[in-house]
Amino acid sequence: MKRGITAEIDLDALSHNYKTINELVSGRLVFAVVKADAYGHGAVEIGKRLSSDGVSRLAVAFSSEARPLREAGIKCPIISLFDPDPEDVVSLDLIPVVHNFKSAARLSKIAESSSYQLSLHVKIDTGMGRLGIYPEDIDTIASIASLPNIKIEGLMSHFSEADLGDLSFAADQISRFRAMRSHLHKRGIMPEYLHLANSAAVINLPEAHLDAVRPGIILYGYPPQHGSSIDLKPVMKATVTIHSLRKVKAGAPISYGRTFIAKRDSIIAVLGIGYADGYCRSFSNAADVLISGKRTRIAGRICMDLCMADVTDIAAETDISEGDEVVILGRQGDEFISADELALKAGTISYEILTSFGSRAGKIYKHS
Ligand SMILES: *Cc1c(COP(=O)(O)O)cnc(C)c1O
Repeated sequence: MKRGITAEIDLDALSHNYKTINELVSGRLVFAVVKADAYGHGAVEIGKRLSSDGVSRLAVAFSSEARPLREAGIKCPIISLFDPDPEDVVSLDLIPVVHNFKSAARLSKIAESSSYQLSLHVKIDTGMGRLGIYPEDIDTIASIASLPNIKIEGLMSHFSEADLGDLSFAADQISRFRAMRSHLHKRGIMPEYLHLANSAAVINLPEAHLDAVRPGIILYGYPPQHGSSIDLKPVMKATVTIHSLRKVKAGAPISYGRTFIAKRDSIIAVLGIGYADGYCRSFSNAADVLISGKRTRIAGRICMDLCMADVTDIAAETDISEGDEVVILGRQGDEFISADELALKAGTISYEILTSFGSRAGKIYKHS
């Protein structure tokens, strides 16, 4: 039987979200973040579609993620966000982000030995506390700018909390970033692109759009926080199949720890999916699934390769059979299970649900 999660990736929904973002940032360049295999959606197919939609750049976390994109024939410029020692910058035609002078010097040597003019971006830590040069440290940036065969094409920084009600810290980050640009201008260093805005800032902070934006999660159809009303379509739908259907008597315990006891004579569907597939153990007795367009609840603990759902009410109304499709994420009929709904139940965020399902799923790409 077919086991595990099948992820249907709707490329038209992706294009729709990309268009929505373009409208929000009117004219700014879009650097689409496709790290972690495009948040689990498959970076090659996502990258191809975004390139043909005209995206300015793709952004990966590490240079190794760029290779499959190049091998698939994607020509669009690729930024490598985090790699301290990116490989094959010349052959992969990468735009590395550097976080310190040492990496920049190493890249300058590589570029010099290949007689290559390397464009790079410099990361500034305006308050994220992760990577980057501090805004006060203008000298380091000036030293990078004077390295042979190097051009500082961009400066970037990253928000730590652009998705909250209180945007005062985000506003401080913007001011620090802008102040730094004017200090650099005074020393004759004029990077073409300043970019700072993640998805949250694309929506909440127009003043952070600057020259380019770096959306991730909204491309895949989810707002970075609850209640946001921009027009997005979820790109991933995740399904599994019914492995077997079993009749159990009232009082029967289901799964490890007997945390679910049938209250009545019941029909239990065994699903061919477990926490090894990224279906979190915290969904035990908590997550809903859709069968025949109706919602029902997981019964008992999620196992490694299997879990159970109580389908007594659904079976009373419709014929269900082994092998039937079960939706664990996305739409079926009028019902919809969002990544945010699942994230809430697992104590995490939609990002982790998408990457954890997507990274293990077999994928099917849909387009009109
Ligand atoms: C992941 C990431 C983004 C995109 O973040 P979203 O919240 O998904 O929009 C942008 N910039 C950097 C540096 C990132 O690491």
